[in-house]
Amino acid sequence: MTETLFSKIIDREIPADIVYEDELCLAFRDINPQAPVHILLIPKQPIVKIADATESDQSLLGHLLLKAGEIAREQGYADAFRLVVNNGEEAGQTVFHLHIHILAGREFSWPAG
Ligand code: AMP
Repeated sequence: MTETLFSKIIDREIPADIVYEDELCLAFRDINPQAPVHILLIPKQPIVKIADATESDQSLLGHLLLKAGEIAREQGYADAFRLVVNNGEEAGQTVFHLHIHILAGREFSWPAG
């Protein structure tokens, strides 16, 4: 996988407002927030997009979802938040390192745009 903006954030080559880190993942505030809380949660292991994940990524993906809930709770939004994963350019993915958007702090309409 080619280096992306997010691998540079993992390597501290570019700055980010980091809110959580462990051996498997990193979470930081989105530079262009779409809600009062807008955090990106990424695996340190470079997976281009969710469609590229395999059986061997099962526990990592579970870890990310658990952490997403914990991070939302720590931000004060245990009960109302939205997780978004854009897969592929046509679905709005612009950075090709898997990431979960954690959005909270406003009302969300459905279906998502
Ligand atoms: P996506 O469109 O799903 O690929 O999401 C990529 C997200 O990365 C967008 O919401 C951007 O605002 C965000 N983003 C781009 N560059 C940075 C950066 N340097 N720090 C934090 N977030 C960023």
